[in-house]
Amino acid sequence: MQLFDVAIVGGGPAGSSCAAFCAMAGLQSLVLDREKFPREKVCGDCLNPSCWPVLERLKLAEQLRDLPHSKLSSVEFISINGRGVTVDLPSGADCEISVKRSLFDDLLLRRARELGANVHEQTTVTGLSRNDHWNIETASGDFFQARILIGADGRNSTVAHLCNLLPRPARERVALQAHIPLPRDFGNRIVLQFLPEGYSGQASVNETQLNLCLVGTPPTISKLRRWAERQFQLPADQGWRTITPLTRSPVPSAHENLFFIGDAARVVEPFTGEGIYYALQSGELAANAIAKIVRGDDRNSVLREFGRAYAQMYRGRLWINRLSRAAVLRPQLGSLFVHAARIRPEIMKFLTGKIVEKL
Ligand SMILES: Cc1cc2nc3c(=O)[nH]c(=O)nc-3n(C[C@H](O)[C@H](O)[C@H](O)COP(=O)(O)OP(=O)(O)OC[C@H]3O[C@@H](n4cnc5c(N)ncnc54)[C@H](O)[C@@H]3O)c2cc1C
Repeated sequence: MQLFDVAIVGGGPAGSSCAAFCAMAGLQSLVLDREKFPREKVCGDCLNPSCWPVLERLKLAEQLRDLPHSKLSSVEFISINGRGVTVDLPSGADCEISVKRSLFDDLLLRRARELGANVHEQTTVTGLSRNDHWNIETASGDFFQARILIGADGRNSTVAHLCNLLPRPARERVALQAHIPLPRDFGNRIVLQFLPEGYSGQASVNETQLNLCLVGTPPTISKLRRWAERQFQLPADQGWRTITPLTRSPVPSAHENLFFIGDAARVVEPFTGEGIYYALQSGELAANAIAKIVRGDDRNSVLREFGRAYAQMYRGRLWINRLSRAAVLRPQLGSLFVHAARIRPEIMKFLTGKIVEKL
């Protein structure tokens, strides 16, 4: 049986980016994902401008620009009573865009495969054991072996669960997401709307479709869905994708011959739309560390260097995420922010600028 240098569970942005960078470094890389791509994923579909440098290094920026997408020019915050404030987003080639995850994730996974990663779709990891290397069991009965294991399998990580590292979710919220017909004159804006029961995020993803996200609690989510049906004149049988929990405590990223990346390591509040950036970038950082370990560099100093770079990726950004979390958990508070920003627009300009500044 082939012994892979690295096995990556999950072929979302974190797993595909890690696999592509590992393959570029000449490592024997394996990706296992339970889904058949292209597949949709509950997400606002917005790409923070910080993603572009990683996509350039993956040589995917031009191909991404060729996919159907929207260039997002502004974000409108709407309070519970319907008053809004609009903040312009940076323009230019490396601006914030929205693109359907089915297209984006498929592009990334294909790139990993093209660079030499061994990709198995419709392969669900169900068991792990460890001796000199990792033994990976799948639902279909196939076995794989690898020196280093990566959990890139999202917020409910099976790898973290099987390693007894997955934090228990607190009483959490739930998200619904759908692609619906784009309302006329919606334009290229993102709408972040506070509602008594939670919030809604909206952005066009191409010339005909709107990404609509609703975030509430289990008791309020059906009220939010009814609000959306009225607001956007949706049929009663509108299909919705769903996900929970929205956030949870982080899992330490680096362990002996085991890394967690993307949502498997840290799930941030989705309101600020940065999760895909953290997924791509943590995938690259883990790949750099693994290449050094496989090459025989001193493991402890590689892990220390990885730990510093990983912390640096979040430095100066998490406080805004925490602030957003406070605002969306109490929509009245979020609405107060919107009212304050109507008087002092520089408040929202500053906060939005911090989120979309290119690193
Ligand atoms: C409502 C909402 C809106 C959001 N909006 C945005 C946004 O606009 N912009 C943004 O940047 N981020 C947004 N996010 C966050 C973003 O979706 C995530 O941060 C991002 O998808 C993380 O990527 P990942 O690769 O870590 O995990 P995922 O994209 O979740 O990929 C994990 C992969 O692992 C696979 N998998 C899981 N378990 C197994 C298993 N046992 N065996 C094999 N495979 C497995 C899954 O099939 C999946 O393909 C949003 C999140 C939510 C909930």
